[in-house]
Amino acid sequence: MKNLKSLLEESNLKITPQRLAILKELENKGHASIEEIYETIKEMFPSISLATIYKNINSLKEEGIISEVCLHQKPKFEISKIPHAHFICKKCGKVEDIPLNEVINKNIEEKYPNSHKELYIYGICKNCQKNGNS
Ligand SMILES: [Zn+2]
Ligand SMILES: [Zn+2]
Repeated sequence: MKNLKSLLEESNLKITPQRLAILKELENKGHASIEEIYETIKEMFPSISLATIYKNINSLKEEGIISEVCLHQKPKFEISKIPHAHFICKKCGKVEDIPLNEVINKNIEEKYPNSHKELYIYGICKNCQKNGNS
């Protein structure tokens, strides 16, 4: 994973403490919704508004630094990385990354260059299985 600061340096965006905090939060959580990001960030920046978070998320998204994971529930965001599938727990809503097989990736790219790949797998996560909630 690249240094968070350099992600901003390579883009057209200014480096601000708020943007770095958003990226840091996504790095820690993996996937987070705007509200989840807001909850954490406002502890560091008590005067920040939800609207500011939205604006920053949008510019980070436009620069391709972060990606929106369009869950059927609430959109979550993550730091952009190579295409991968998402596992979503039907019980607790937990999102996990699942690597996409190289062969599949190559096949798709050959047929449909630069395609936007979203693949979702729904099930019960390890934790919920353990708790016998299935
Ligand atoms: Zn779960
Ligand atoms: Zn992901």
